[in-house]
Amino acid sequence: MTHGRATAAPLPHFDADLHSHSCVSDGTLTPAEVVRRAHAAGVRLFSLTDHDHLGGTAEARDEAQRLGIAFVCGVEVSVSWGGETVHVVGLRVEPDAPALVRGLAATRSGRDERARAMARELARAGVAGAFEGALRHASNPALVGRTHFARFLVEQGVCADVREVFRNFLVEGKPGFVPHRWASLGDALDWILDAGGVAALAHPARYRLDAAALETLIDEFRACGGTAIEVVCGSHARDEQRRFAAIASRFRLLASRGSDFHGPGENRVEFGQLPALPDGLVPVWHDWPEADCERAAQVASAIGG
Ligand code: AMP
Ligand code: MN
Ligand code: MN
Ligand code: MN
Repeated sequence: MTHGRATAAPLPHFDADLHSHSCVSDGTLTPAEVVRRAHAAGVRLFSLTDHDHLGGTAEARDEAQRLGIAFVCGVEVSVSWGGETVHVVGLRVEPDAPALVRGLAATRSGRDERARAMARELARAGVAGAFEGALRHASNPALVGRTHFARFLVEQGVCADVREVFRNFLVEGKPGFVPHRWASLGDALDWILDAGGVAALAHPARYRLDAAALETLIDEFRACGGTAIEVVCGSHARDEQRRFAAIASRFRLLASRGSDFHGPGENRVEFGQLPALPDGLVPVWHDWPEADCERAAQVASAIGG
């Protein structure tokens, strides 16, 4: 048994999903429902990473414990960088850390005013009642965002689905877009690191940055203490996974993996459907005790222990 590693069959794929949303932000399921869905799909290591909010953490953690799925506290922080909105996922954060709690509250605070301005812009484009309509889709009025407006526009028959909304509304140059100043990169990283967490640059292929600007972002992210990047995620196509695998190696970043689940029927990928991290990368969970437990259990079962 003590030399099980040498004799064990190749480990089965370890399904870590470290990016997801509940109705605490812009997902449609409760935190416990999200955990149950991840667990049912075979996810072994899970994080709920609501936008700028840790309010779902306790419920998710309790449900994860009940089901025996490894759980780490997470959050997705909205950041403004170089005129672009960038998302940073904080993983294994201490959810009561004062600087993080205060920083997230400050980051959220502009959302109400922004939503009212978005509704005014939509009204000018002929869509009335969008503020109230978006709020109806938001379980948490403190966290009303573009996804809630998108669901309202679909409900009104203005667009066929949420993706069509994000092509024709709510983005720069289209009706309903309102520029907004989120947290700075330095502040977001400070809050995450102060809370004992690891920072991962979320869905890097999504940003409208050319190669040079993206490298500058990664340099600054690393200089601020960021150590990980999402390589496999819901919004990365295969070629983008390869591209960011190479970038992770080149910049010596740990690799993260997460579906960015928002609700049944609203995602490109469901829990349990993401490909494995490409070989040769160091997973962000490589030294986490939560993941070690799972590995140990896998080794045990692989060697019949
Ligand atoms: P907000 O934080 O209010 O600006 O809203 C950002 C959210 O909008 C993201 O977290 C996604 O859930 C959603 N979103 C942004 N772009 C798209 C897109 N192209 N397709 C679907 N959802 C999107
Ligand atoms: Mn979202
Ligand atoms: Mn995001
Ligand atoms: Mn997300």
